[in-house]
Amino acid sequence: MPDDNHDFGDRGKSDGSIILKSDREKRSNPALSELSAKDKPWDIHRAESDQIEKHYQGTEFQRYSERINSCSEFLDFALRPTQSDALNLKLKGARFCRVRTCMVCSWRKSLMYKARVYKSLPRFLEDYPAYRFLFLTLTVKNCATVDLRETLKWMNQSFTRLSRLRDFPGVGWIKSVEVTKGRRDDAHPHFHCLLAVKSSYFGRNYLSQKKWCELWRKSLRVDYQPVLDVQAVRARGDLTPLIAEIVKYQTKPTHLIGYGREKDKEWFLEYTRQIHGTRALSIGGIFRDYFRELEEEPVDLIGEDETDKREDFGQLTFNWKRAEKKYRLYDNS
Ligand SMILES: [Zn+2]
Repeated sequence: MPDDNHDFGDRGKSDGSIILKSDREKRSNPALSELSAKDKPWDIHRAESDQIEKHYQGTEFQRYSERINSCSEFLDFALRPTQSDALNLKLKGARFCRVRTCMVCSWRKSLMYKARVYKSLPRFLEDYPAYRFLFLTLTVKNCATVDLRETLKWMNQSFTRLSRLRDFPGVGWIKSVEVTKGRRDDAHPHFHCLLAVKSSYFGRNYLSQKKWCELWRKSLRVDYQPVLDVQAVRARGDLTPLIAEIVKYQTKPTHLIGYGREKDKEWFLEYTRQIHGTRALSIGGIFRDYFRELEEEPVDLIGEDETDKREDFGQLTFNWKRAEKKYRLYDNS
């Protein structure tokens, strides 16, 4: 029966099948997504990880598939008092697999990175109130996926050369690596950078897009014009969404999971081999004094907040229901 047909409030429709469904719904434990809107991403990311796990099954990465399988299977939340009737759930415990391509772990890491930047950014803005920011995207031609590791190495060396050029205006930067899957099942690695520049950049030290391209081309030591995008960050308020963009996953979940073709799985396995041990985020210049810890993988993926001294008044545990793609309240009675 289609979902939009079940109207439990309408007595006229209370035929047997509806009552049956209604009873079944009553019997199942509440879903996390129904109880707490802010925790809806759990279902999405855990379902994505199920797909990733499938790709690894029976391959040289079987061990990854086992680790992802037991990742965040149970979630313990503390119940927090609120002003309204809504439930305030605070994550207290979960086991994470920390496999690089696990979508739950990637999501949790990006949340931790964001929290770190948001914590340190005000200190930087206070120390350097006149500095401005640029958002820079640096790309190269697509490479064969088997050459991804070598390509990233070359791009990183090129970025170091770029940052040492006399004309390079950045005094501090956060650089992240993103890899997208190309149409020909190749790889498109690129860098997203947030650059702090002195205010003189918008005067005598200004670089046109064309000049930026030339500097990047020179640093890459290639004879083609690489694609590059540079944008001035107009308002400080725009920094927050940009930072979120920079520290998000390294490769879009859809590109990792694919569309069910055998080639998608092959691409993903090669990607896994290639990115193993490579670094996703790096920090340079005066940003090192503020954001250095972004280069270290967060130990805590739960997000302990030591300043939050509110007392919990209960605990709820949720369990991943694979077939349903939902976390539901765990009932061990
Ligand atoms: Zn995980």
